[in-house]
Amino acid sequence: MLHRLEGVRPVPVKTERQLNEIDGLILPGGESTTIAHLLRVFGMLEPLKRRIQQGMPVWGTCAGLILLAKDIQGEHPHLGVMDIVVKRNAYGRQIDSFEDTAVVPQISPDPLPLVFIRAPWIERAEGNTQVLLQLKGHIVAALEDNMLVTSFHPELTQCTAFHRYFADLVRAHLE
Ligand code: GLN
Repeated sequence: MLHRLEGVRPVPVKTERQLNEIDGLILPGGESTTIAHLLRVFGMLEPLKRRIQQGMPVWGTCAGLILLAKDIQGEHPHLGVMDIVVKRNAYGRQIDSFEDTAVVPQISPDPLPLVFIRAPWIERAEGNTQVLLQLKGHIVAALEDNMLVTSFHPELTQCTAFHRYFADLVRAHLE
């Protein structure tokens, strides 16, 4: 998806050195407990937290959203940087994964495709956190300063609107 955008050079990030060379980071989906465990094992949790707190733009999709949350219901937080209360696996099991569409005014005037895979939702957005999308009464996209989160997976659609929006956040931070 990032390769389709003008002026964006995507690189995978696995080491602290790579982390220090990038201007913005996407924390992908997957399994948040496993990702958090690996971040700890490879000594990346604290350096990553530091960079985010220093203002590096970050976008967490699904498991990435869970990693950023200050409050994960019934569990200890991982990066614990964003003022959101998150419910993991909120829609049920893998088999309850689903697709939908919605207009997210801040991102695009057109309806956007949304793909939810054993997704979390945000129970509460606190502090400065701005709600970008509520779907059937639950918050599924939010923004707090340099932190963007989506419960769903824009990278599994053909639509680059969210990626463009994030690339713009990164550019704005560099200016
Ligand atoms: N269910 C996963 C978790 O709780 C997230 C799923 C995903 O990233 N698609 O970590």
